[in-house]
Amino acid sequence: MTTEDAPICSAKGCRAPAVWVLAWNNPKLHTPERRKTWLACEEHREHLSQFLGIRGFLKDVVALREWNDSAADG
Ligand SMILES: [Zn+2]
Repeated sequence: MTTEDAPICSAKGCRAPAVWVLAWNNPKLHTPERRKTWLACEEHREHLSQFLGIRGFLKDVVALREWNDSAADG
């Protein structure tokens, strides 16, 4: 069993495996179609969502598995 390349939560200091993808966009920096992504574990999804949400940056929260599936579909 390997977790070497498992995606890790983006929360500061957190080493937990990511379960969620938070897709966001800062209209001051990014064109509207652009999506930046943060990864979140179960514990930090709420925290990171709120951080982006109150700034109006948060676009989407998707389960990592679904995100990878849709990315593979192109
Ligand atoms: Zn975390």
